[in-house]
Amino acid sequence: MTQPTIILKKDREKSVLKHHPWIFTGAIQEIEGSPSAGVTIRILNSKKEFLAWGAFSPKSQILARIWSWNEEEKIDSEFIHSRIRAAIDLRNTLFNSKTTDAARLIFSESDGIPGFILDQYNDFLIVQISSSAAEYWKDDLVKSCAEITGISNIFERSDSDIRKLEGYSQINGRLLGETPPDKVQIYENGIKYFVDIKTGQKTGFFLDQRTNRFKIRDYSSGKKVLNCFSYTGGFTLNALIAQSGEVVSIDSSEQAITLGKKNIVLNDIDNKRASWIQGDVFKELRVFRDRGEKFDLIILDPPKFAPTIHSLEKANRAYKDINLLAFKLLNPGGILTTFSCSGGVTPDLFQKIVFGASLDAGVEAVILEKLHQDRDHPIPLNFPEAEYLKGLICRIT
Ligand code: SAH
Repeated sequence: MTQPTIILKKDREKSVLKHHPWIFTGAIQEIEGSPSAGVTIRILNSKKEFLAWGAFSPKSQILARIWSWNEEEKIDSEFIHSRIRAAIDLRNTLFNSKTTDAARLIFSESDGIPGFILDQYNDFLIVQISSSAAEYWKDDLVKSCAEITGISNIFERSDSDIRKLEGYSQINGRLLGETPPDKVQIYENGIKYFVDIKTGQKTGFFLDQRTNRFKIRDYSSGKKVLNCFSYTGGFTLNALIAQSGEVVSIDSSEQAITLGKKNIVLNDIDNKRASWIQGDVFKELRVFRDRGEKFDLIILDPPKFAPTIHSLEKANRAYKDINLLAFKLLNPGGILTTFSCSGGVTPDLFQKIVFGASLDAGVEAVILEKLHQDRDHPIPLNFPEAEYLKGLICRIT
């Protein structure tokens, strides 16, 4: 059987030569053979010279995701195993069991396994598959993950929207070992959390904010705190543990708030200092404004307002709105910690939006720190698209 092959149009090989892992439909001159989804294809330039091995994604705008730029490489079970081994070895150098028992062990293209995410929560693994590449190698991936981590309880949360773009239906269910209980307990920097890995948001916890949650402790002591988009209280708990004053947490999800309250009890924290509002941050910030209530530290960690490039303008207005309101609610010397996890909003653009918000709020502010996704979500130099989370800690004067 001849190896299915795609040949790129003239002058469309530049990004492949720079080791960008995606090939868009527009770059394709010809497809030889009739590869099915996920099959390994040889990628050639217009002169039919070898460029890379990739996985075929017939239903996606990204028609191929590259496995390797090395012609000698054989894409097989062993190759998959070694990629997983490398990703997990890296995580073992980043964390030790003192810090946490929850981490992103595999982050898709960042670990050379396109569309595959592996998160560890204590003795459970969560798998998320969003590409034909990972779907095709699913059995090998799952087997190697269990073997290398020594964790045999694997649950699948392939329920992200990206999966639909590749033409797959959503899956939520047990793959191996025990089904997780409704609440799995993890720890992170000395704080315990209950995580709902079966139905919680993302794969249950926002692992990317680990270091930023920890950082908030530096700014919390004695402060009155407002944590907007609190989810299950990650920033709330870190503020409370650092001897903050009152912490008000707002989230629209009842399920998240219920777990947040349980997390406070789990850590034996005095819950008289914590109050929770189930509501819409856009509305609740206006309620505080109208009441003239002020805070010393405000955290804004909204969901992705710009899931696609088309929603960028609307998203920018939403970011500006909440940042403007937050600046107005701060006491003099107050701190705003503000994030965007929309990939389409660059760090530069985000800073401009926050600047615009400060101008309109009539405050002067300085940036004390720039924040980003944690180290278990690495950003390959050849794949800057992996960068999505950025944050600023600003102090108003
Ligand atoms: N900071 C959290 C993660 C926040 S994720 C942590 O460290 O764990 C974003 C949260 O915003 C989700 O919990 C979601 O339920 C909530 N959310 C989304 N839209 C909202 C809105 N308009 N008002 C309030 N909460 C909202």
